[in-house]
Amino acid sequence: MLLFEELNIIEPIKKAIKTKGFTKPTAIQSRAIPSLLKGMDLLGCAQTGTGKTAAFAIPILQGISLQHKAQASRRQIQALIIAPTRELAIQIADSFEDYGKYLNLKTLVIYGGVSQNPQTRDLTKGIDILVATPGRLLDLINQRYVSLRNVKYFVLDEADHMLDMGMLQDVRKIITHLPKEKQNMFFSATMPAEIEKLANSILKNPIKVMVTPVSSTVEIIEQELYYVDSGNKVNLLINLLKDKEIISALVFSRTKHGANRIVKNLVKAGLVAEAIHGNKSQTARQLALKNFKERKTRILVATDIAARGIDIEELSHVINFDLPEVPETYVHRIGRTGRASHGGTAISFCSHAEKPLLKSIQKLIAKSIEEVIDHPYPLVETSIEVIVKSDRRNTSKKSIIEDKPRSSRRNNDIKKKVVRTEKTRSNVKGHKMRNE
Ligand code: AMP
Repeated sequence: MLLFEELNIIEPIKKAIKTKGFTKPTAIQSRAIPSLLKGMDLLGCAQTGTGKTAAFAIPILQGISLQHKAQASRRQIQALIIAPTRELAIQIADSFEDYGKYLNLKTLVIYGGVSQNPQTRDLTKGIDILVATPGRLLDLINQRYVSLRNVKYFVLDEADHMLDMGMLQDVRKIITHLPKEKQNMFFSATMPAEIEKLANSILKNPIKVMVTPVSSTVEIIEQELYYVDSGNKVNLLINLLKDKEIISALVFSRTKHGANRIVKNLVKAGLVAEAIHGNKSQTARQLALKNFKERKTRILVATDIAARGIDIEELSHVINFDLPEVPETYVHRIGRTGRASHGGTAISFCSHAEKPLLKSIQKLIAKSIEEVIDHPYPLVETSIEVIVKSDRRNTSKKSIIEDKPRSSRRNNDIKKKVVRTEKTRSNVKGHKMRNE
């Protein structure tokens, strides 16, 4: 693998990289930077945590800064980076500022959910690099605050998340405002058909860089599994968080209500925790994130969408309070820890009902997650699947029968039913509430 020294990076950027404390480029950086410096298009299959931001920010900064010297006129937007969430957009802009610390370039980040006035004020002053979420960008283009006529570098980051979040229509409209001649960089952790089509429509003979975070990220992260009843998850969480070795924990909840409820319970137990999700105002989300980054809050409870792209160096623990419905999301979640080369721990709670989700996750990561057996809230929920068939010859198909009186097995219809024990029934209510 190449070293930063061998990548032909200009002195001021090298100095900034040194200030960040990076010694070696990551895989995506050493593969992408040389081609991007030559002006090629790029298709990157990579997710947050691989160092992809620097992989595109460094060549863009270098390209603009070399041209900038010759260009004495007023600043114009030369690079546009579109990202799906406000948090990610802010982090990308921060990276441009970090790596461009010793260059005379201006970066601006714009996103929705806040007043547009400070953003339009900054835009009229003139900027070189614009990082934006699609909705607000399109708004400001339509109001003629943004002109993309001079864009020479275009980055679409986390395209698959844009698809999930229904943003592709806006993205396509934005693209119509861009000049044909420009360098394009397209990043997506996964490549569903629609994303592939979009990539093909934008990119010209791109170099393709794939980094496989699924295995690489997963390898350096310690993963633990706790089987626990859904009604006992909060108690287990409180119990685990008493461990002082958990320096900072990002807890994932499936729903916004669930996230609020977890925080309420943690606070009641005397722990400092905050929630971050789409129902919170932008200011509240930024503040919660800032407190967490500055270690004022030890525990941040988030939904997947709100946590997308959150980049917190040295996050020690990710806790899956609820397992995700989509197995890839597990990898995205645990990738919040184990950044670049740091290790980390990912803890997952699995209730009886979540066992099929666990199975898909283990299949995706191609390994079984180690189970912690000795804990105070072991799983007691049991589900009894009774398949009773009138034709006894067929009963071998699938029949798991536990703790069930014989009488109930007598049934003439072909029926599959889930019977719960008394203990489970008392938990069912809590589980239902969690899915509200
Ligand atoms: P990204 O995938 O761009 O979100 O970056 C993930 C994390 O890796 C960020 O915290 C970066 O600051 C960090 N990082 C980026 N490049 C390097 C590098 N060459 N060496 C060490 N850490 C890096």
